[in-house]
Amino acid sequence: MKNKLDALDLRENALRSICFLESSVNVKMNYMPYFRINFAVTPPRFEHVVHFDDPENIARWYYGLTCAQMVSGTRRGERLRRGIEREIARRLAGPFGFMYTSKQTARFCPEAKEPYTWLWGDRSALQAWVLEYMRSADAKARGRYAKWIRNMVGGLQKFSIRIGKYVLFPAYKPRLSYKKPSHWKLPVDAEGILSDMQSFDQGKAEHLQQHLMPPSDSFGGMIFPLVQWYEAGGDKRALDLAVGISNSVVDFYTASDNKRNPVGCMSNNHGTLNSMAGVLAAARHVPSRRHVSWARMLFEFYSSRCGSSFGWIMENESVDPQRPLERPSCEGCAAIDFVSAGIELAKAGFLECWDIVERSARNYLTRAQPKHIGPISLEGVTLNLTEENRRNDSVPPELYDDRDIARRAVGCMAGWGAPNDVLDPRGKGAMCVQNCCSSHLPFGLYRVWEHIAVMKPAGLYVNFLLNHTGRWCDVRDYQPGEGRVDIKMKTSGYLYVRMPEWVAKDKVRVKIGKAGVDCAWDESKRYVAIKNLGRGAKVTITYPLRRWKVKELLGGTVYTTDWIGDTVVGIDPPGRFIPVFG
Ligand SMILES: [Zn+2]
Repeated sequence: MKNKLDALDLRENALRSICFLESSVNVKMNYMPYFRINFAVTPPRFEHVVHFDDPENIARWYYGLTCAQMVSGTRRGERLRRGIEREIARRLAGPFGFMYTSKQTARFCPEAKEPYTWLWGDRSALQAWVLEYMRSADAKARGRYAKWIRNMVGGLQKFSIRIGKYVLFPAYKPRLSYKKPSHWKLPVDAEGILSDMQSFDQGKAEHLQQHLMPPSDSFGGMIFPLVQWYEAGGDKRALDLAVGISNSVVDFYTASDNKRNPVGCMSNNHGTLNSMAGVLAAARHVPSRRHVSWARMLFEFYSSRCGSSFGWIMENESVDPQRPLERPSCEGCAAIDFVSAGIELAKAGFLECWDIVERSARNYLTRAQPKHIGPISLEGVTLNLTEENRRNDSVPPELYDDRDIARRAVGCMAGWGAPNDVLDPRGKGAMCVQNCCSSHLPFGLYRVWEHIAVMKPAGLYVNFLLNHTGRWCDVRDYQPGEGRVDIKMKTSGYLYVRMPEWVAKDKVRVKIGKAGVDCAWDESKRYVAIKNLGRGAKVTITYPLRRWKVKELLGGTVYTTDWIGDTVVGIDPPGRFIPVFG
């Protein structure tokens, strides 16, 4: 059966991301990116929301470009990446090695009168530096990144508060002039903090909130790059911080006794899933069964209660009580971090997560990124806009740009998306795209790309049946047109290829070159195992594709998705503005 959809190639998504990242930065205003694309106004426009653009988003564009370059195997966007790097280097100041807001921002953002930092933004800079350190072959560049990273790790140590096994951080957004008192006095001890966490999210622990940030939405994102830095640079301070922050994140959740759901407080799913990936990465070095089972329980909760079969996931764990009329929408960042956390769980031994991640990667993750100008054009969006969905937002002219937005928005990612549409008139941020998601998407692509083919002591593991060119092998995928994957070995030895969970095992056929061989499975019965392959061997595996339908209730609406293999080929009801599965 042939299908009109081509096999997914993450490199194409990455190249579209680079085009988008290049077209959505205001270079004249200290490289400040545009936080959102507003389609509820005519003509649509890029808008700054200064609170997010600076200091957080500038470093997201930075690691977004790095990740997109690593996946696409190009250096496109390098001029912009270096420009942003210089701008960030100018903002590193103060005693902690953190990145502060630019002076220019103060014109538009009252809280930036005196430059401040925000750990959620610093984690983006740290993520970029660690990735650059890992990929760079140039000793001078590595030295520069290592210096910035070490300064920030030292700063995090100085800035943190340790209570027992917990690493926590003082209240939000320190100013440039901020100096932590040498003897930090909190009204709680290690035991007290746990009981106070129980009411933290309900605003009852006011005395604590004045002193501390909530862990997962603010500094939990530090864990993952800290662990990567420990792995790349052997810095034990980084692992120590990662474990202490993990303790805070996990206990913050498990201590909360909020009755709404089994995992605790209502949080931003992006922040929590991002933290979860870090907790699992840290647990590889300092094993903690408790942390792994916490992550497993929470991931299952997200899959079944907040997510979908194809990667769409709610921005929060439930409808925001402050905004009861809004339809839950998907923050693209949550869909991206769902994939990242799922990969870490699969690596921790929960092999079914490879399937969940592959379905998400083939569908919402990559297809909520508009590919062509057509659906974004005025005809596609504005003609469908009803009076009720149209707005006349007032934004100072220096803070928006409405030139040629349809072309420039290609390659963004749904920021408040419906299951079937990049734009949702009844969702949060109605008819807008938040570009934290557009700039975070390449990170998700990179996480999937890096785990397509992984070398382990037992042999080469192909975990996703996705197109790939890498050091160990090339992979060519044929879904959804055919159930077939070709692998060309660039090394010798054993090869393990994970087959989708729905595959009829007795129908799988394996060829090496033109010769059919018996199909053997590894112990988990999830991977086809082929022994003693020589360098240059060509392996072809064929399998029958399943055709299936899934009906699910998402954000109050029943959606039916039509699948061939792991690809959604139709959704009912279909999208109206920028359809995801058009
Ligand atoms: Zn986002």
